[in-house]
Amino acid sequence: MSSSPQRFAVASRRVVTPEGTRAAAIVINNGKIEAIVEREAVPAGIPLEDFDGLVISPGIVDAHVHINEPGRTDWEGFETATRAAAAGGVTTLIDMPLNSSPVTTTLAALEEKRAAAEGKCWVDVGFHAGLVPGNIEDVELLLDAGVCGVKAFMCDSGLDEFPATGEREFRQVLPLLAKRRVPLLVHAELAEENAAETEIRSYADWLASRPESFERNAINLLRALCAEYLAPIHVVHLASGPLTSHFFWAKQDGLPLTVETCPHYLHFYAERLEDADPRFKCAPPIRRKEDRQRLWEALIAGVIDTIGSDHSPCPPDMKHLASGDWQSSWGGISSVELTLPIVWRGLRTQIIPFARVAQWLSANPARLVGLADRKGRIAVGCDADLCVWNHEEEWTVVGEQLQHRHKLTPYEGERLRGRVKRTYVRGQLAYDDGVFPAGPIGELLRRPLTN
Ligand SMILES: [Zn+2]
Repeated sequence: MSSSPQRFAVASRRVVTPEGTRAAAIVINNGKIEAIVEREAVPAGIPLEDFDGLVISPGIVDAHVHINEPGRTDWEGFETATRAAAAGGVTTLIDMPLNSSPVTTTLAALEEKRAAAEGKCWVDVGFHAGLVPGNIEDVELLLDAGVCGVKAFMCDSGLDEFPATGEREFRQVLPLLAKRRVPLLVHAELAEENAAETEIRSYADWLASRPESFERNAINLLRALCAEYLAPIHVVHLASGPLTSHFFWAKQDGLPLTVETCPHYLHFYAERLEDADPRFKCAPPIRRKEDRQRLWEALIAGVIDTIGSDHSPCPPDMKHLASGDWQSSWGGISSVELTLPIVWRGLRTQIIPFARVAQWLSANPARLVGLADRKGRIAVGCDADLCVWNHEEEWTVVGEQLQHRHKLTPYEGERLRGRVKRTYVRGQLAYDDGVFPAGPIGELLRRPLTN
């Protein structure tokens, strides 16, 4: 293991600050950004590394990662997931309350998870709690313990120990969350009561089994509850393009209703997936090309707030690739390492400033999880969390070269754009072009309490 000097500077012609991108040097002192100055103004005697034309963006804050440790570490674990994060320019990730065992629905489970993560994280890691029927008192304790958000499912989560919740539980928890200004993160799919269960044999069956109306039902209820309680509600992994308008109007009304989409909804589309195997199974399903277009438009318009990877691994045999069994295949796509090049590839025909991308990937998710005072921006006083990347490099994904535990990926062979070269976590060199010099220096984060 090696560490970066306590006081040093990095420079580039493309330093991405909240005000825009410019040539600058970032002076780092003891893990914090001490100053942002002209390259020539770096005080003599301070070691300076000049990255020339490479982009220096704020480290990515991925607020949606399923690490599955403890209990399902054979699916994914803190070591592999956080190394993958570092390789992808992610400097902070927030772990979801499932599919670990136990799920993070009690204080004891959170403590068990923190103990499991201790000393195994290559980047900084925070935790979301889970809302399930009957655990409202546990949620209070979890909030006191500094969880970053509270996650709920309005449909089957896939785990018996993490049952769905609905209006009844939301009415219990939202006053609490309004007071503390902590978001309820919701998997927003709500089936009609008479929805028929059909057999899933193909991608088309999967898509048809979870229509846009499920997302609409859920979002309608959440928007009404958000207006009633004025509590922050964050819809995770929006897949349906037309539903972006709900968030536009909610923002017009000043409601604290925010929304995330995921790289797979911005990259793939159903017309390409007619013969797809279950690597592409995720919920909600990847929808039509037109949906993808609407999601991009909503991002660019500032209507979609964040992009989270929804990194959700499982052992390869649970994908049932040999039999192509869509019905029993586990859903989830692992891409914590690929968010930036997927998003940047998607923007290849557009002129979108780096600073806008940094809002979706860093600043907005940092604000969502209560860490904006130190994460998500290249600004004086913030943690020196940096992603140094080549925005022009195009490359092809080889699953075997990815860092997360299981290499099966729907991105195999996909051409992406933008390649992470270095990742600094609080000034320490977490990733350097294929190696991980700093070691497991990740801190376990707590959301500061609001009074
Ligand atoms: Zn998820």
